[in-house]
Amino acid sequence: MLKNEKAIVVFSGGQDSTTCLFWALQQFGEVEAVTFNYGQRHKLEIECAKEIAKELGVKHTVLDMSLLGQLTQNALTRSDMTIEQKDGELPNTFVDGRNHLFLSFAAVMAKGISAKHIVTGVCETDFSGYPDCRDVFIKSLNVTLNLAMDYEFVIHTPLMWIDKAATWKLADELGAFDFVRERTLTCYNGIIGDGCGECPACKLRRAGLETYLHSREGFGAQ
Ligand SMILES: [Zn+2]
Repeated sequence: MLKNEKAIVVFSGGQDSTTCLFWALQQFGEVEAVTFNYGQRHKLEIECAKEIAKELGVKHTVLDMSLLGQLTQNALTRSDMTIEQKDGELPNTFVDGRNHLFLSFAAVMAKGISAKHIVTGVCETDFSGYPDCRDVFIKSLNVTLNLAMDYEFVIHTPLMWIDKAATWKLADELGAFDFVRERTLTCYNGIIGDGCGECPACKLRRAGLETYLHSREGFGAQ
């Protein structure tokens, strides 16, 4: 545990970043969260993030990134577009370089509050084609940010090599299983907790949850 160190968590109010927030609270003496408002379909996502941060007693900043909507035609930011994913292609919620931009802005903020640790829930295991979620990119960006700002950032990716089931396991180990299950928003249709069950985000989340619950029962933990 790094009790004298400060961290900033890139936080969306979803399962992954909320698990990362709990992880950071266990690792670091001081933790802040940053959420990006880029014209998400569901304003609820931001409200959800605010509520969680408040409940966990974490200082929370919402940064306006609405310019993302100006840059791309995208189902994540345009309510008049339907979310779809064709086989072998990126879903049309994909925004090129989004993660790159978010982490770079988070780093500027982090230095401003004298935090050298940046925590993000990106994951290569469930890699759905987002190049800026790959480990090699994160490592490259870490070097770039350190050079850009002459500062020793450490980017942490606790979920990088684990799948959705193991992410539930991590939440459980952090004592946050019920909290993450009931309070986070993953669903593209804006339904908190177990969600609509139909959208791609819900399907992925539920598959991981079922796998984890089965393995937990298998070990007789409940
Ligand atoms: Zn859903």
